[in-house]
Amino acid sequence: MSRHFAVFGHPVAHSLSPKIHAAFGKQTGIAIDYRAIDVEPGQLTHALADFIAQGGAGANVTLPLKQAAFSLCDDLTERARRAGAVNTLVRNGDTWHGDNTDGVGLVRDLTDRHALDLRARRTLMLGAGGAARGVAPALLDAGIGELYIVNRTPQRTDALADALAEPGRVHPRYLADLPALGEFDLIVNATSAGRDQPMFSLPRAVVGRRCAAVDLNYGEAAIPFMAWARASGCMAAVDGLGMLVEQAAESFARWHGVRPETDAVFAMLHGHAAALVTAD
Ligand code: NAP
Repeated sequence: MSRHFAVFGHPVAHSLSPKIHAAFGKQTGIAIDYRAIDVEPGQLTHALADFIAQGGAGANVTLPLKQAAFSLCDDLTERARRAGAVNTLVRNGDTWHGDNTDGVGLVRDLTDRHALDLRARRTLMLGAGGAARGVAPALLDAGIGELYIVNRTPQRTDALADALAEPGRVHPRYLADLPALGEFDLIVNATSAGRDQPMFSLPRAVVGRRCAAVDLNYGEAAIPFMAWARASGCMAAVDGLGMLVEQAAESFARWHGVRPETDAVFAMLHGHAAALVTAD
């Protein structure tokens, strides 16, 4: 039976992942069967059982299923365990092995592609969902300074800060506290607020002199935050397209044992970026 790969999410129809993996396959000479499968929350276990029966060997998992994927894995990489969220599943005999490539994907895009030195940057993370959980440990490992986390639902902020277990360095705060938090060198938008609802209001006072703003969203969903970042004087504004390509390359390497080259795929997608709709 041939090996199948897929991205599971809800919604997932606009996902770029099939296009990215097809391009990696072409570049590396590996025949790729990778599709997008829409799965309602609560149905992931059932959908994966069908997928295995059809030859499913590996999958990406995206919004809002990353924490559900974490729960059903038989074993996990250290970075997936720290994140409490899984975006990459590898079928290993009769078991699912879970990994999280979001964090390494973001850090590689920021440091290698955009030449940002992350070390000692006082960082503000907006959001505490699956993506925030994936990228926060990698940012800490990359040497950022203090990390302030703000999320609409405070319980999720606290849960993420607890999971990161670095109390002197990681600070959960309320949205209402934003104007009093001081200036930041790095602001990461890990919310899905720009996708179908207006961006929440961000005070200009959080922007420091050498501040870089990073939106994990891309395409239309990144427009509000990127516009705010530019209007507020951020020195750099980076959207999530490069992270998307880098996390995909890392997943590809897990499944096929070869790490594809990413610049050509990034350039191809970047050319169409204005027309993209976020759905990793
Ligand atoms: P998620 O688990 O559903 O979490 C969504 C986050 O956004 C939560 O923190 C949520 O706050 C917040 N949020 C949603 N609507 C909001 C609003 N109107 N105002 C304020 N906060 C709001 O989703 P996720 O997996 O973390 O993904 C977040 C975004 O990152 C998505 O748009 C996704 O496409 C993008 N992403 C990109 C990549 C990439 O490779 N570029 C990878 C992963 C994710 P509450 O907790 O209060 O609900």
